Amino acid sequence: MEYAHDDVRHVAETLFARIDKLENPRDILRAKEIGELYARLRTLNDDQKATFGAEVNSLKQALRKEVSGRTSVADEVRAIDVTAPMDVNCSVPNFLSHEAGSEHPITKEIALITDIFAAMGFTVEESRELDDQYHMFETLNFPKGHPARDDYDTFTTVQTDADGEGFVAPAHTSTMQNRILKKYKANLEANEAIAAIVPDRVFRNEDLDARHEHTFYQIEGVYVAKEVTAGMLVATLQEFLQAYYQKELDVRMNPYYFPFTEPSFEFALSCPFCEKAGCKVCGHEGWIELLGCGLIHPNVLKAAEIDPTVYTGFAFGCGIDRLVMMKHGIEDIRLFHSAKLEFLRQFA
Ligand SMILES: [Zn+2]
Repeated sequence: MEYAHDDVRHVAETLFARIDKLENPRDILRAKEIGELYARLRTLNDDQKATFGAEVNSLKQALRKEVSGRTSVADEVRAIDVTAPMDVNCSVPNFLSHEAGSEHPITKEIALITDIFAAMGFTVEESRELDDQYHMFETLNFPKGHPARDDYDTFTTVQTDADGEGFVAPAHTSTMQNRILKKYKANLEANEAIAAIVPDRVFRNEDLDARHEHTFYQIEGVYVAKEVTAGMLVATLQEFLQAYYQKELDVRMNPYYFPFTEPSFEFALSCPFCEKAGCKVCGHEGWIELLGCGLIHPNVLKAAEIDPTVYTGFAFGCGIDRLVMMKHGIEDIRLFHSAKLEFLRQFA
């Protein structure tokens, strides 16, 4: 079928006009027209897919921004002035003894998350704080010039590598996928799966508010073996989230577009706090869109010299700060890096 830019624009106009007529504006995010656009992705060639997928994603994000603007609690949260100068007249503080310190809430929660995945047989890898564009993009099926590269708002160094490209502060933990696949490839030959997680820091050059930080944490999951299905992906994530929130949860997947997975999904869980009745945490929706995932694209396996006709896999990437914020009812992501003791002591 033909790739049709006008169709996305047409759907956008229709949906934006419909929002006001809906009892729950958030229902617009699941309009059947969006599903139809994603369904059309499958009929396009790779180049068209990249452009069309990026357009449909950005339509979805625009709609999400529109409806979240109407229900958001972010505006009610007081801004922190991170640029405020230090008071030079203040007296020297009484330093606390090291015994009065406590683990940072993120550190604590990463240990818990890691334990849950370790129990399911996943090994743990670290990411890095500077990487090349080959690992950040090319190995993940974003060739040079791919429109989705622009979605990442990366910090880039002035110094360049041999290809003349700046290094990047990784904007996602997926930057480690190719290394993990290569490192554990021998597992496959021994008839074992590649199963690894990467809980680590990522960086984005974006505007800061109660929900956006330049530095935050993600957990990446990679699983490759013979005959891996989307069902295994769902079961793994559901198992993890139920263990993390200590309760039974429903999960739901909607189609999405990522270059490095096919098919790609947005994964939502039933709100752990209101049992779908609607509350402030889930924006009175009953469901929380939590992470992106999908079956690993054959080109990503090929980039690690794994034969995609023999092996398949799944991958997911999830924001850790968000998991922790939901668990503890934290409303401003900037608190994590604020060094405010009154905040940190609550987790001691
Ligand atoms: Zn809720």
